[in-house]
Amino acid sequence: MTSKEIRQQFLDFFASKQHKIVPSAPVVPFNDPTLLFTNAGMNQFKDVFLATGSRNYKRAADTQKCIRVSGKHNDLEEVGHDTYHHTFFEMLGNWSFGDYYKKEAIRWAWELLTEVWKLPKERLFATIYRTDDEAMEFWKSETDIKHEHILRFDEKDNFWEMGETGPCGPCSEIHINLSDNYEDPSLVNAGSPLCIEIWNLVFIQYNRDEHGKLHDLPAKHVDTGMGFERVCAVIQNKKSNYDTDVFSPLINEISKLSGIKYEKEEDSIAMRVIADHIRTLTFAIGDGAMPGNEGRGYVLRRILRRAARYGRKLNLTKPFFYKLVDVLVSTMGDVFPEIAEKKDYIKKVIKAEEENFNATLDRGIDLFDDIIKRLKNENKKVIPGKDVFRLYDTFGFPVDLTNVMAQEQGFTIDEKVFDKLMNEQKNRAREASKNKFASITINENDLSSFNIDDENPTLFTGYNELSTTAKVLGFKHEEEAAFIILDRTPLYVEAGGQIDDHGKITINGKVYDVVDVVKIENKVVHVVFGSGIKLNKNDEVKIDVDSERRWDIMRNHSATHFLHNALRTVLGTHVQQAGSYVGPDRLRFDFTHFSKMSEEEIRRVEKIVNEQLRKNISLNHHRNIPFDDAKKMGAMMFFGDKYGDKVNVVQFGDFTMEFCGGTHVQNSSQIGLFKILSEASIASGVRRIEAVTGAGAENYIYEQLEKIKLQDEKVNLLNDEKRHLEKEIASLKFKAKLGQINFILNQKEDINGLPVYKAEVDADNMDELKAFGDELRNRMKSGIGILFAKVEDKALIIAVVSDDLVKEKKLSAGKIVGDIAKMLGGGGGGRPHLATAGGKDVAGIPAALASVEEVVKKYL
Ligand code: ATP
Ligand code: MG
Repeated sequence: MTSKEIRQQFLDFFASKQHKIVPSAPVVPFNDPTLLFTNAGMNQFKDVFLATGSRNYKRAADTQKCIRVSGKHNDLEEVGHDTYHHTFFEMLGNWSFGDYYKKEAIRWAWELLTEVWKLPKERLFATIYRTDDEAMEFWKSETDIKHEHILRFDEKDNFWEMGETGPCGPCSEIHINLSDNYEDPSLVNAGSPLCIEIWNLVFIQYNRDEHGKLHDLPAKHVDTGMGFERVCAVIQNKKSNYDTDVFSPLINEISKLSGIKYEKEEDSIAMRVIADHIRTLTFAIGDGAMPGNEGRGYVLRRILRRAARYGRKLNLTKPFFYKLVDVLVSTMGDVFPEIAEKKDYIKKVIKAEEENFNATLDRGIDLFDDIIKRLKNENKKVIPGKDVFRLYDTFGFPVDLTNVMAQEQGFTIDEKVFDKLMNEQKNRAREASKNKFASITINENDLSSFNIDDENPTLFTGYNELSTTAKVLGFKHEEEAAFIILDRTPLYVEAGGQIDDHGKITINGKVYDVVDVVKIENKVVHVVFGSGIKLNKNDEVKIDVDSERRWDIMRNHSATHFLHNALRTVLGTHVQQAGSYVGPDRLRFDFTHFSKMSEEEIRRVEKIVNEQLRKNISLNHHRNIPFDDAKKMGAMMFFGDKYGDKVNVVQFGDFTMEFCGGTHVQNSSQIGLFKILSEASIASGVRRIEAVTGAGAENYIYEQLEKIKLQDEKVNLLNDEKRHLEKEIASLKFKAKLGQINFILNQKEDINGLPVYKAEVDADNMDELKAFGDELRNRMKSGIGILFAKVEDKALIIAVVSDDLVKEKKLSAGKIVGDIAKMLGGGGGGRPHLATAGGKDVAGIPAALASVEEVVKKYL
């Protein structure tokens, strides 16, 4: 059975049970800000379950396009590595809205699986929620499943929720055990590819609110979801979804494009990932999403890049991904016409993204080549961990890709150091997310190993300067990294949400990147990669901050303070900062507030902030003042933070004054434009705003313009197509009209032995009438033809005479048409074989038709 038939049989089955078959909702939910992508069939009915909306039917069924790459349901990591999770898949579902409940849901699911599709009963298992005795009862009374195949599980497996909030309830799942031990219940819910969940019957009876509390819904509903690709694999007797006809055309095309067979596990993983990801990209773009730098767009961009990187494993280095759209459209475009309609647009978007990403990768490859050249000169065969890390961190090269590239050149990579650097980065991220004045330890290093005799803290000079000369207090070299402690530094160490500065250090005239700054106790350690660095205590080094980046950070940090106060102005003083991230590219601000901000509230906040920024307010930086004084001034504290005796307070006019150790612009107008990108919930009662300033806002504008341009191009394309179609329709219409000639040919008259044809035809203008004349002349062979048409308030006439009559009888169409036109109050003429004329007397056409015989006779 083909997948197409399977899909149809599902729909037919539920149609026969009085279900209305509804179309799939778009994968991009336009009216649900809590969801990035549609992740289940029930999404489009959420309002029905919550009783905030209704439908004029009580039972529905459909196949729903789903994407699971973010939020509560995220299957990205599984994809390709297993055989049954996809980022995009179809969920077949049937629903009852306060109509039937567990009994029918269970009976019909069983009937479809075992009677229509004839799945082997002995391999099927049903799971139910721990306490759901009702479901247990119905499995026993409504089906002939083996009783020992009904298994109880707890919340983790048998309580379904769409997201952190929303409709939910206990569920009953159907699993199939395809292993040799098919009666073995221990495989159920154990993550085995041979025993998978195919269908989930959810009994929706609760709504979970923002505080996590369950409330009874006004009515009980059924919401089921079956994995279409999984059930196809089972019915088609395949071990993997990718072996079904849903995926094989894609896999074959990838194989063709790469020239690599779908055989070796490593290649196969790459092919599966690519086949999966093209579906997600195509459907998401088809439904209006775009790869980009934020939210949904960012998720898509990451997925596309992931596919491109896997493509490189198959030696696909040029844009190739977009080429798969054709195959996908040819297999699914009839069921989901939206992807067929937008095919060219989708291809264009994907191709542009691929080209963009390839440019980044190519820069990485240049770097890689440099590294290899350098190592060859040094007669080395191992790529140092820091280089592998840089390729990963800056150019997005996964380690295995670097490894493959290294092997090709006869090199290996130092994975140990790479892992270490990765771990450090992860630790940093973890610490950063804790959002405290974080101190990061460099593995086992602590200050004692530096033998420092100076007790003073490293002085942070970065409030006033971005470059300084500093004295070495301590120094250590380990493998290829140097750790340098200085008496002073302009580099900011991540704290209070503001991330580390990047910078350079000049040692004996040589410049090195400072790859990390870490605070250990009261000292700042500068981490520098490079071999052979030699330093002694009290040596002097020059140290510079990457100032462009720092300026971006300062803009974002100062803007955060303005944002904080604007939120309190618009939403109320219950708004408290709950965390923040300040980087060069964007700022993130978490705050306490219980409901989603409206568009209008967001605009007001933006307006207030921008209005203040334009006021050119100077920074009033109170540094190192006693804590109590700061409190007395009324500076806002970050709740839950500990402060020392001496604190810094950052004030901009009378708009904002906060305790803050970060770095700031000197003047509000240096921030430029402030723009909010998104507002969303991150935990109950905590919201998150992401925003950009300065160059970030500028980039944002360009990105939006780019989007509009693409949309415009799309519109132009559609317009061209429309014009083309209109022309085609007009020409088809006219062809149909020309059929009238057959009728005219059948009404031949005979005047003195000569055939004469005459009629009024339905022509819209003289060109059409001429076409009629030509057609008649071609088809009548020998004879005289006279045709009339009414066009608006004019009578048009054409006369045609066949060549033989022009020659032998000296007949002239011009003369004939002239005589007739006179009768209609007009005139005209032309050549002997074809002539046209017009007249004003439209009402005279019947009389003129009648007098044709007379006129013709005159010339014989
Ligand atoms: P699993 O535990 O296998 O990830 P799930 O519990 O997340 O499944 P549900 O949320 O209940 O699945 O979704 C309903 C049905 O959709 C499942 O029974 C399964 O057949 C199918 N399904 C879920 N996630 C995927 C996916 N990522 N790819 C393909 N099918 C899926
Ligand atoms: Mg899942």
